[in-house]
Amino acid sequence: MALIHNLGFPRIGKRRELKFAIEAYWEGKLSQQALLAKGYEIRKENWALQAHSGIELLPVGDFAWYDHVLNTALMLDVIPKRHRQETKDVDIDTLFRIGRGRAPSGCACTASEMTKWFNTNYHYIVPELEEHQRFSNAWTELFEHVREAQAQGYQVKPVLLGPVTFLYLAKCANTEFDKLKHLDAILVTYQSVLSKLTEQGVEWVQIDEPILALELSEEYRQALKNSFNALSEVNIKLLLATYFDSVSAYFEDIRSYPVQGVHFDLVNSDVDANELHALIREDQVLSLGVINGRNVWRADLEEVYEQVAEVARKRGDNLWIAPSCSLLHSPVDLDQEETLSEDIKSWLAFAKQKGQELALLKEALLSEDKTALKAYSSPVKARATSNAVNNVDVQARVAALTVDDGRRLSPFEQRIVKQKMHLRLPLLPTTTIGSFPQTLAIRQARRDLKAGRLDESEYRIQMEAEIRYVVEEQEALDIDVLVHGEAERNDMVEYFGEQLDGFAFTQFGWVQSYGSRCVKPPIIWGDVSRPNPMTIGWTTYAQSLTAKKMKGMLTGPVTILFWSFVRDDLDKATIAKQIGLAIRDEVLDLEKAGIDIIQIDEPAFREGMPLKRKQWSHYLDWAAYAFRVSASGVKDQTQIHTHMCYAEFNDIIEAIADMDADVITIETSRSNMELLSAFESFDYPNDIGPGVYDIHSPNIPEVEWIKSLMNKAAQKIPVERLWVNPDCGLKTRAWHETREALRNMVSAAEGIARGA
Ligand code: GLN
Ligand code: ZN
Repeated sequence: MALIHNLGFPRIGKRRELKFAIEAYWEGKLSQQALLAKGYEIRKENWALQAHSGIELLPVGDFAWYDHVLNTALMLDVIPKRHRQETKDVDIDTLFRIGRGRAPSGCACTASEMTKWFNTNYHYIVPELEEHQRFSNAWTELFEHVREAQAQGYQVKPVLLGPVTFLYLAKCANTEFDKLKHLDAILVTYQSVLSKLTEQGVEWVQIDEPILALELSEEYRQALKNSFNALSEVNIKLLLATYFDSVSAYFEDIRSYPVQGVHFDLVNSDVDANELHALIREDQVLSLGVINGRNVWRADLEEVYEQVAEVARKRGDNLWIAPSCSLLHSPVDLDQEETLSEDIKSWLAFAKQKGQELALLKEALLSEDKTALKAYSSPVKARATSNAVNNVDVQARVAALTVDDGRRLSPFEQRIVKQKMHLRLPLLPTTTIGSFPQTLAIRQARRDLKAGRLDESEYRIQMEAEIRYVVEEQEALDIDVLVHGEAERNDMVEYFGEQLDGFAFTQFGWVQSYGSRCVKPPIIWGDVSRPNPMTIGWTTYAQSLTAKKMKGMLTGPVTILFWSFVRDDLDKATIAKQIGLAIRDEVLDLEKAGIDIIQIDEPAFREGMPLKRKQWSHYLDWAAYAFRVSASGVKDQTQIHTHMCYAEFNDIIEAIADMDADVITIETSRSNMELLSAFESFDYPNDIGPGVYDIHSPNIPEVEWIKSLMNKAAQKIPVERLWVNPDCGLKTRAWHETREALRNMVSAAEGIARGA
């Protein structure tokens, strides 16, 4: 009864071994052979770890050198022409060429685009399909991995990204065409892969079709049916895996697929286990994703037991239990953490622990004895009533929030008049987005402070010197609105999290973001409040050095929320309001200290969008409100800026306007100001700073080129409402690039202003 399986495991290694090996390989410091050996080791350790925790059917094919969508593209021989050039053979360097535009064996050519994997912070490589694409099984690592796992004595279940989701996520390389026209050809390759797996003695294959959590067109629904019909021709058992959101809109479709089993995410579901049991025939496997695969919280196993016990009794062997989705989105092993408080640690579970949770659950289901579950879940219950988690003052403040707390005193047209009188800025004011180059010396100083090699006052002296330098540089460049440069910040969320109550930090809680890049999000475990001012000292010091306006620099509530692991016992809207209030306190302290331009960054605003469109307006309402709570306590003459860096504004422009920032700076240069069309056609009323150069590139933008972009912007937005700034912060750039680029930016702005 109740077999335990897993949909996927983190591939980065317990201590990010894969990242370090891959980067060493890229730099020529590790041979390809040694890299391959490292991959082997990590897979071996991952399977052992999972088997040891109690997982009975192990995933294979979840490992990737760069990205699993890219693996799938290679499996189908979907390789952009520019990345094929030199070698004919498809190998590991082909993956790297596509993923990052270069590989040790040569070819520097533009990498493929990267974008967010559904509503997670993982980014996949967008496959590029030609209109006359041919498909074949070009990448065969999967079969080797199956062999490896079998040789190590495991029962395995290969995991494949489904053909229809693959097509959905791909883009047309050149001309537009209907991607689904390739489905039949792709299915032939999938069939051959499945046949080979049969020959290897594989019984079950997991086919992931996460697009079932979206709102699908008739064409895609039909494509899914066709796909399962074709795949079922091969003599192998298929487990359809769905996750990330409810799929109840497609229950009838799912029931009609000729598959041997279906996995549902029970954590993000609008139906219960009994309904799913009724839906899936009893000769099919029903797999229930009962443990949240993408958070860090210990499960309340008593509660999970109640959810599934009855179905387990009825269904016997044809009930499987699993995490809700692949554990790719969860850190690897809580046991490594040595600095978390005992309380907080007892509330958490990472990937390894989630496997153990399933094993505990299964034991209880078998014995119908819940004693062990009770003991395991008691910290979760203690957490709910903990005084540390619950801050009654914060809760009362959130409960008392009104519509007016999210509204500035006067409408924008009146505010902007007062701001113009007060700030006295020229036409087309120039500014930057906040950070200046994070030099080695700066990073070293922060490390030394953490390690105790530098005391607070020495650190302060050094950071003040950095601030002085940044201010002098900006004055020499004649920039209008200055920033202090963010030298003291390691990361725009961690910096604030460390100073707010309710946040915890792990030592090894990394998750893959893309390629070799990992992030270590803070954990929001309790009610959030701001015990002390966070930025006032640095900002007022910077202001004291100049007669020009110094812009205060904060991270907004929505971004702090989405770039953290968020507590699961409170709704996101409420958490966002709590953070909004904490930032509001900081904004008001800045204003009191004489700072009258304050930027509240929200680069993650779009990231929080739910998968289904019908839920968007609810999200956008609370997200914009939380931002406004942070921004609205100030006087009319205080100018609030916000900053966002991404490519899509059309479908959220109304919400952007609803945020009511006096000035929004956005990333636009790579789109040639095309992004501004959304603002133009919506008649976006407030001021805008469209980025005039790409900060991701080391190239210096020329004055004439910046001018041409600005002229384009001025055709879309009245020139009185335009600001001039780079696309984003400058922390990854070198000083000489920064100086030259900004000099050209200022001179372009002056040139246009003179002519206007
Ligand atoms: N103020 C931040 C910086 O300049 C903004 C970063 C971001 O948008 N991601 O670095
Ligand atoms: Zn940005």
